[in-house]
Amino acid sequence: MLAMRKEMVLDFSELRSVRLQCKDCGVGIALDMADKRTRIPAKCPGCNSEFDRQSVQGSLGAFQDAYKSLSNLEHRVSVGIVVEN
Ligand SMILES: [Zn+2]
Repeated sequence: MLAMRKEMVLDFSELRSVRLQCKDCGVGIALDMADKRTRIPAKCPGCNSEFDRQSVQGSLGAFQDAYKSLSNLEHRVSVGIVVEN
């Protein structure tokens, strides 16, 4: 059987909803990257355990900054999502 490969192209601005899932209780938090009031939480709202500040705040903060700058470029930036099955 032939391997099928599909590519879906999205405008970078469409990557606005990021979901952060707690490793302890599984609660997911949706973060809107397009909303400048979005703050990456220090603690899980489900079980109150602290998120690893360095990895979560650092990485998601960097993504949030990248989202803002790439979404505001005069030139359209898109990403390809490749699905193989
Ligand atoms: Zn939790």
